[in-house]
Amino acid sequence: MREDRGEIEAAGEGRLPVLVEPGDMRGDLHMHTSASDGHTGIPEMAAAARRLGYRYIAITEHSKRLTIAHGLDEDRLRKQIEEIDRVNEKLSGITILKGIEVDILEDGSLDLSDEVLGLLDLVIGAVHSHFGLSREKQTARIMKAMDRPHFSILAHPTGRLLTERGGYDVDMARIIHHAAERGCFMELNAHPRRLDLDDVHCQLAKSEGVLVAVNTDSHRPEDLKFMEYGVGQARRGWLEKSDILNTRGLRELRSLLARTM
Ligand SMILES: [Zn+2]
Ligand SMILES: [Zn+2]
Repeated sequence: MREDRGEIEAAGEGRLPVLVEPGDMRGDLHMHTSASDGHTGIPEMAAAARRLGYRYIAITEHSKRLTIAHGLDEDRLRKQIEEIDRVNEKLSGITILKGIEVDILEDGSLDLSDEVLGLLDLVIGAVHSHFGLSREKQTARIMKAMDRPHFSILAHPTGRLLTERGGYDVDMARIIHHAAERGCFMELNAHPRRLDLDDVHCQLAKSEGVLVAVNTDSHRPEDLKFMEYGVGQARRGWLEKSDILNTRGLRELRSLLARTM
């Protein structure tokens, strides 16, 4: 927190936050399996998450537009929904939620029908194309996507890749304010190349009352350990356990997600 953003004053007034700890995390809401561009099946991801003490995970494959990642179309997503039901029946100690990382298209529409998105527990929206739009167009595109009837979490909100590219030009203050009005959530992507939201935007989300989902975007079971980097970034952004979506127990999480769906 030693970034000269008010921490000395807060300490002097005895109002330093009690920062989130890795042990506060109850689950991970963004990961891929070999159905899209991940490397193992659903049971392997669930078993690894259970070993970390999690109560739930969400499977969130790419959607069809991302052909390079074998993104799912409506039919394949419906089949995966059935597969998750079957795996959940055999599992104990952890629950698999049904999700998708749906592409936000250039005009702000989503890559899959509202009908199939409505069958899920959560919908993560993500920008994976058209990074070069103007600030005004990029911001409007993302806000339009957030207004769709099923939109839970905005993934890796600026799209930055550390050491490779900066984020796209976007008015993050407006987007976070829009998330507050819409009642959806912002992701802090814990992958060490992303760490997106950054610490300043985490603090902004907190000040707007928008809960942050700290997710690893795992593509293999070992990636689940990236959570510690996400929690570190959340701490730098002053986040407490209560500021984070996936510190909630499963019941509370379900009711928070249901409001976005
Ligand atoms: Zn993504
Ligand atoms: Zn992803």
